Parts: sequence; structure tokens; C-alpha cells
Amino acid sequence: MESKDSAAHVDDHYDAWFVKGLQEFVRVPNLTMMADKDFATNGLIQQAMEVVDSYINKLEVSGITRHVFHPEGSNPLVVYVVEGSEGATKNVMFYGHLDKQPWGAGWEEGLAPNDPQIRGDYMFGRGSADDGYSAFATMLSVKSVQLAGGKLPRIVLVLETEEESGSPNLIPLLNLAEGVIGKPDACFCMDSGALDYDQLWLTSSLRGVCNMDVTIEGGKVGYHSGETGGIIPETFRVARALLNRLDNCDTGRVTEELQVAVPDFKQQEAENLAKMFGDKLFTKYDLHEGVQCVEQDNIPEMYLNNVWRPNLSVTGAEGLPPIAAAGNVLRPKTTLRCSMRLCPNTDPSDAKKVMTEKLTSDVPYNAKVTIDNCHAGPGWCQRQLEDWLHNSLNEAGHKFFNGKDYGSYGEGGSIPFLKELQNKYPDTQIVAMGIVGPGANIHGPNENINLACARKIVKTLAHVINTAGNL
Ligand SMILES: [Zn+2]
Repeated sequence: MESKDSAAHVDDHYDAWFVKGLQEFVRVPNLTMMADKDFATNGLIQQAMEVVDSYINKLEVSGITRHVFHPEGSNPLVVYVVEGSEGATKNVMFYGHLDKQPWGAGWEEGLAPNDPQIRGDYMFGRGSADDGYSAFATMLSVKSVQLAGGKLPRIVLVLETEEESGSPNLIPLLNLAEGVIGKPDACFCMDSGALDYDQLWLTSSLRGVCNMDVTIEGGKVGYHSGETGGIIPETFRVARALLNRLDNCDTGRVTEELQVAVPDFKQQEAENLAKMFGDKLFTKYDLHEGVQCVEQDNIPEMYLNNVWRPNLSVTGAEGLPPIAAAGNVLRPKTTLRCSMRLCPNTDPSDAKKVMTEKLTSDVPYNAKVTIDNCHAGPGWCQRQLEDWLHNSLNEAGHKFFNGKDYGSYGEGGSIPFLKELQNKYPDTQIVAMGIVGPGANIHGPNENINLACARKIVKTLAHVINTAGNL
């Protein structure tokens, strides 16, 4: 009888274990702590941890141990360790998280955040793609290599419980778990995205972010706008002038002080992706008839504007009444929340300084400006991968993703802890990948996971850890 390879074992367990387990996980109504004031006491995150653990136990992975770190005043961190095969030299870490984004409104008829429905290749539900699948994918890949009689490196699966709240305790928790985790040779962060579901995608870079609220005040109270317009400075106009210092309102280009020259590899990536995807890079967004995208005639530039260059969005406002309640008043103040995406290798504390300086110095009319709620996080650039990892990922791409090499692309969003992880493990090869592809809509309504692609990712992980086990 011919013995099965790890991919065949993945297939054997996929529906009955992976899909079922992930459905069970989606049914747990646990939210991230920022969206759940009872997070610490209602036991929901523990319930999510238990669902994952009960499924992992069903797999009967040999050599597995579980360690929970939950210091007073912090959140739990779960670490599974699978001892490596005899003679194994590598320690491979996987990262995922168990907390979920708020449910949000607008779920389609028949779908709900905690009711995992399967339609064709897709399973819908909050926390499916972001990021419940990561624990199931890692453990099924490990078990499949064991069943196929392959060699394994030492495996460490780290499951965080506060990623959607900005991971405030992650590094202290990793320090606490150091004796169990050891020093990873490679770390797979499974919480990123994919450009499509037909190729294996790695994230080559992520942007940083610097958010701050700027409040501009003139009069101590509001006055009749007819009586005082032209006398008291209009705070919205002052805000417009200040924002123009951050970006050019005609082009969207952010101040040169926050620009970093585009490196050759990024330029190359932009040109390759423009060739591969063309208009698809922007036609997937639903715009009103006739509305054009920024730089839509120059797709490599559009791509670089999105993944490399800084970019400003105003994401909230206060001091402006709703239209229905707006009288002819010269309002006393305007507050705007400024969200600046940063170049992947900009130091966020430098960005904070530049932005604060621009918004608060030489203010027109000497209007009063206050900066609050400043949160900044770093971006990240993937290092060049060692040959074994690069080649193994390409082999997996050829085997499971239509004969294609793996692809690399930059994300416009941010996963700030990657940079912290890289600082903590300076010699570790960090690989960011994920299942969040077109239409996955994590954080929004109808979050879904492409089950066909997730299956290929599990097979890929099995292939790569088997390679690492033989080094
Ligand atoms: Zn996530």
C-alpha cells in the first residue's frame, strides 16, 4: 500500500476537523477587550481558548504541551509546543490571535457573526479569517507531517488574546514565555492578507501608523456667525490651513519630511503587480459613477502611494453639530482625528514629532491648538529569506497553487507588533502571510474565509515545516 503524503492527510482531516473546529470557534461570541468591557470577567476568551484546545486534543499530536501565561492585570497568552523529531535543529514559531473584532452592522440576510454558514468555497463568520483559522491551520499541518512519517522541527504556536486591541501586553507576555518559546529560527505570522486566492502570497511590507486628534479653538463660546464672521477666526478654516501642512490637498502627497525614497525592490514589485493585476488593483472598490481613483492612469504609482508612501485620512470629527441641528453659529472649536499611514521604515516617534510640530507651530491667529490621543505604531519590511525557506515556499507554491512561485506584495495597513517581534528576535526570519483576500471583509460585515485557499495554506505549512525538520 502506498503511504500518504502530508497533503493527503490534510485532505483527510479538513472537513471533519478543520472546518468543524473553525465553525465551533466562530460560534463563541468573544470580542476583543476594547469592544468588551467585561472581557476580563465574562469568560468568553477562555471559552474560545477551550474550543481551540478541545480540537487540538482531538488531533492527538504527539509530543505536544500547552502553556498558558496569564499574569495579574494582563491578558492570557496560550503557547503550544510540539517537540521536534530526533536530530531536528530548527525552532519554528507560528503566531495567531483568538480575540475578535466587534460584530458591526450590515450583515447580509441569512448571515450572522456567530453563525458560521458555508456558501460554496466560503465560510462566513466573525473571527474566521481574522484570525481563528491560524491555530487550526498550524496544528493540522503538524499532525499531517506526523501522520506521513515526516520530520518536524520544534514547533511553537503562540496564540494572543488582544491583537485587535493593539497587543499592549504581547512583548511582556512573550518575555514571560521565553523559556517555553526559545529562540525561533523562523516565525510565521498568520494574520496578514493575500492578493488573490490562486497564488501563495507573502506580505513584503506593512505601513506604520500615527493617529492624533487635533483641536482648534478660537472664541470661548459660539457666536452668531453673522455678528462675528470676519472677526473671530473660523476654526475649520484654521484646521484646513494646518492640514495643508501635512499633505497637499491637490495631490494627496504628504510632506517631504515624512517621505522615504522608494527602494528598488519596491519599485520592481510595483511594476510586477501592475503588470499582473492592472486595473483590478482598484476596480474591486465600489465607487460612484464617474469617480476616479488617485493616479489611476499610473498603477505602479498608485500601488506605491498605497503601500510605501505616507497618506493622511481624517477619520473623525467633533465640534460640528449634525446638519439638522446646525444654526448660523461661528462654532468655538473643531476637532479632527488625523490618521497618518507611514512609510514601512519610518520611526513612528519621528512622525509624531513632525506632525505635532506642523500642527502646533505658527498657528494662524495664534488659535489655541491641542493634540490628544496620539497613538503610533511602526511598519515593517520583510528581510530577504534564507534559501531553504524561500525554496520551500516556492515548492509549495508549485505543488498547491497552480504551479506558481509565491508572490510578494506590500500591505497598506499596519501590524505594529511585527516590528516589535523583529526587535525582540533580531535573527529570526519573520514571514507574514494570511487568508485575508478579496472580499474577506474582516472588521466589516460578512467576514469570510476561503476554505479552498485555507486548505492549500495548511498543505503549504506542512511542506515548509517538513523542510525545516530535515535541516
Ligand atoms: Zn487579525
